[in-house]
Amino acid sequence: MPNVLENISSNLEVLRSPGHEIIILSDIDGTIMSHNDYDTGCFMDTMDILKYHNIVVIPVTSKTLLELEMSQSILKFHGPSIAENGGVISISDHAHDIDCHHETIIKVLSELPKSVLSEMKCLSKLSIREIQEITNLPYAQAESARTRLASETFTWTGTVDCEKRLILHLREHNLRLVKGGRFYHVIGLRDKAHASKKLIEFMYGKKPNSSFEVWALGDAENDFSLLKLADKRAIIKNTKIDQSYLVENLKSAYFSKQEAPFGWAESIEKLTQKKWETNIG
Ligand SMILES: [Mg+2]
Repeated sequence: MPNVLENISSNLEVLRSPGHEIIILSDIDGTIMSHNDYDTGCFMDTMDILKYHNIVVIPVTSKTLLELEMSQSILKFHGPSIAENGGVISISDHAHDIDCHHETIIKVLSELPKSVLSEMKCLSKLSIREIQEITNLPYAQAESARTRLASETFTWTGTVDCEKRLILHLREHNLRLVKGGRFYHVIGLRDKAHASKKLIEFMYGKKPNSSFEVWALGDAENDFSLLKLADKRAIIKNTKIDQSYLVENLKSAYFSKQEAPFGWAESIEKLTQKKWETNIG
């Protein structure tokens, strides 16, 4: 790893130019953190280098705000963040923008036929112990994963036809289904990309002559729109999930050789290279 960190440092000395901002939008689970043991590898060392070069890293995650707060000791994200797959934009501790409230989503889901509902295990309906069994999270974190403001998260066992019925019902109520690494999520119409655009506009839109570029990193289908909007993008390898949709539809991405956590620093190293090339296709 020291080589990777040294390379990122020296690449940025060449790449950075005054007045031109770089904003990194990054998923967390399966991208920064390993799904298995929540290890973050050399993430903090990489963050220190990025911070030294005034590069802003914004978490764009399916986690809840509470989960993000609880992971501060490991991840140390102190600025704005996007939680619940775009459903929540957090500008500061006291300023949150919520797209579609959790109660509205629960009401729409309750109107689904029993045959569809029986295929879903919604986190908000599970006991903390049941969530721990699925996620391997400690008690307090499992509890904070359940407390959602703008989305519902669930495991899914239904057929493709059953999933089509679910999507149709959600669409009729202006909701959408997104697929993460381990879970499915129901959110309003604002996904990770819409929320990121709104946040960036808020942060940089009013600066005169602001010049910036966006990099994005993610591992699952719920990161697709986010990766697509970026100027440079990396897909973090994740052998636990099917990544064919991302790989087939994002030809101009870097596809990491390592999984999380080390695939993150590996990808940052690649994105910081002046002559950056995709390795897909
Ligand atoms: Mg992920």
